[in-house]
Amino acid sequence: MERQKLQRQPRRPSHGKKRAHRYNAPAQCTLSPWYCLLQLWATRPADPLKMACASKTDEDFMRLALEEARAAMLEGEVPVGCILVSQTGDVLARAGNETNRSRNGTRHCEFVASEKVLRQADGPALLRNSTLYVTLEPCIMCAAALQYLGIPEVVFGSANVRFGGCGGVCDIHKMKVPKSGPRGGADAAREALPGFACRGGVLAEEAVEVLREFYATGNPNAPEAKRHRPLPNAST
Ligand SMILES: [Zn+2]
Repeated sequence: MERQKLQRQPRRPSHGKKRAHRYNAPAQCTLSPWYCLLQLWATRPADPLKMACASKTDEDFMRLALEEARAAMLEGEVPVGCILVSQTGDVLARAGNETNRSRNGTRHCEFVASEKVLRQADGPALLRNSTLYVTLEPCIMCAAALQYLGIPEVVFGSANVRFGGCGGVCDIHKMKVPKSGPRGGADAAREALPGFACRGGVLAEEAVEVLREFYATGNPNAPEAKRHRPLPNAST
């Protein structure tokens, strides 16, 4: 019925009309069938992760992580920052390194941000459906922690050629271990390590520049024996 009405309307564009208007329903529609198709495409059900990426890009999220890195530098920390983003594009947590302030070498920004999410309702599930944006490739320790937390995707800025666990030194992100070990015993209780997707190079230059700026002025928290440059205000 609708198709017959459409065909009777004068001055209707002839291209593709039957196929397009079969989905468009209203017989009185005067819009181009291509426009209707475009509307259908725009309102189609989509993967939530892709929807998030459509509104914000990797670089947008990485800029937020860089803000955390700069904030950490102002606190005398090695400037590495990260954010955790949900599938719908919400920022779940943001953090910078806290190792110097806490005098705890494990307080890398990945740990700090993950902990913030774990304190939220359904924290573990949120983590398992999140993406981590971090300015520097996660170190081996953090990459292993991300595995155990089940974070499925990591996007980093600069490569970490000294300590990187996502290709810099070793490929922790590619480790895949089934939930139950083959030998039983302690292995049987082990959680699955599913591996996680990982890609780098997003705003890498900016990430390196922040680190360069930090080390150029001398790490104020480094032991004297390990300091490569004297602090600017050092008396000797
Ligand atoms: Zn780390």
